[in-house]
Amino acid sequence: MNDKPEKLIADDGLRLDGRHADEIRPMKIEIGVLSRADGSCYLEWGRNKILVGVFGPREAHPRRSQRANTAVIRYRYNMASFSVEDRARPGPSRRSIEISKVSREAFEPVIMAELFPKTAIDIFVEVLQADAGTRTAAINASSIALADAGIPMKGLVTSCAFGKVDGQIVLDLNKEEDNYGEADFPVAMTQDGEITLLQMDGNLTPDEIRKGFELVKKGCKEILEIQQAVLRKKFETPVEEPEEEAEEAELEVTETEPSLEYATEAAAVEEVIEEAEELEEELSEETFEACAVDEEAPECEKLEEIIKEAEAKVVEGEVIEEVIEAEIEEEAFEEEAEFEAALEASFEEVSEPEETEAFKPEKPVCEEMGFESETEEFAEEAEVEEEPELEEEAGMEEEPELEEEAGIEEELELEEEPQFEEEAGLEEAALEETPESEPEVESEAESRETAPAEQAVEAEQEPEEEKSRGPWKVVKDPSESGSRGENDE
Ligand code: UDP
Repeated sequence: MNDKPEKLIADDGLRLDGRHADEIRPMKIEIGVLSRADGSCYLEWGRNKILVGVFGPREAHPRRSQRANTAVIRYRYNMASFSVEDRARPGPSRRSIEISKVSREAFEPVIMAELFPKTAIDIFVEVLQADAGTRTAAINASSIALADAGIPMKGLVTSCAFGKVDGQIVLDLNKEEDNYGEADFPVAMTQDGEITLLQMDGNLTPDEIRKGFELVKKGCKEILEIQQAVLRKKFETPVEEPEEEAEEAELEVTETEPSLEYATEAAAVEEVIEEAEELEEELSEETFEACAVDEEAPECEKLEEIIKEAEAKVVEGEVIEEVIEAEIEEEAFEEEAEFEAALEASFEEVSEPEETEAFKPEKPVCEEMGFESETEEFAEEAEVEEEPELEEEAGMEEEPELEEEAGIEEELELEEEPQFEEEAGLEEAALEETPESEPEVESEAESRETAPAEQAVEAEQEPEEEKSRGPWKVVKDPSESGSRGENDE
């Protein structure tokens, strides 16, 4: 052990390590350093080096340690035997047990342990290098490791000590100050300022404690800012940036015109052609005269070879260009064809069902009535049927059920008559048909209440004569015509 220095605070007010009385040692924090832990932190504070691993919430073992309504928080402070100048004895000691207890209690007010009954949250602290203030350093590191593990907490816990050195109150004691100072006063607090750890070793007056607390508050504030910055760096920054980039990339893709897909290839082709042309020009200048004099000159032969090569390159480039153009045209043609097919399909979907399902079953009835053109007459019938139905629905919603039948009968008569004035033969049939449209109205109105079986019974009870009278019956519910068919059989 080093001898006691003559002075711990120099005449200029600076401490042995050059700090002012209210300064903390430099702090460095790394988060998520242990892959097997749920959360971890490596912290350097001055010459202290602390490693913390957090595990849980996980099933508490032994089972008798489980608590029915809450998680058990376990905190183990361990000082590596190589962490101090004189070898520390491995295993728990009175000191390490005490530090583990007070540190656990420093976290109990903030960890929301009640969310995880019967589980354990384990905090393992390894002091790799000690230089006074290891319990406070360990608490700061544990706070980060707990957050890294995603343990719900009401806030972070920060810790710092103050002490008395050479009769002065100073913040964050180092080893010499701790060993030769007059007092050491470690404190931990939540980010709301609630004190969760308070110990004192030495003698201090109330005024000194008050002054010391002012320094500790300042120190803890600075530490909290460092902790928050580290956590933000890990949990905020990486999430936001890639999303923005991805969105931008997506926009770029969607905005790109199909023809530009080949921009790179097209540029390459142009380059090949340009290179070939340049080569040809340069060489012809150099050797043109020699060839003009003697066609069999060696320069001339070389020139011819190069010209052929250049021409081949040009041809190659043009071929690639043609292929690209053809591909672009083909793609455009395919897209057009797909669009047309989709359009046709949508037309078919809209027009097919009404013609086939609604009109086919009653085709003989239509012929009986003496219609010349199937399609035109059936189209009119569809209109006749559809309009009253729509109004019936509107009316039914407002009027009470008992009054509905009479009211709707009248409505139907009024609605249907004008439609058939031109068809003298059908007018009578239309009037006769109105009572028969009752079941339809009922089934429309009570469609949510009437069981399908009841509807079938109603259809069966209809007189055979009425069924075949009016062409408007054509648009009856297909299920009715089905039950009718069964009845016929
Ligand atoms: N120390 C040591 N050997 C031990 C215990 C502690 O050398 O067995 C040193 C170590 O550097 C530690 C300092 O004494 O940081 C102060 O120890 P203290 O019990 O005050 O706890 P700390 O200040 O580390 O929380």
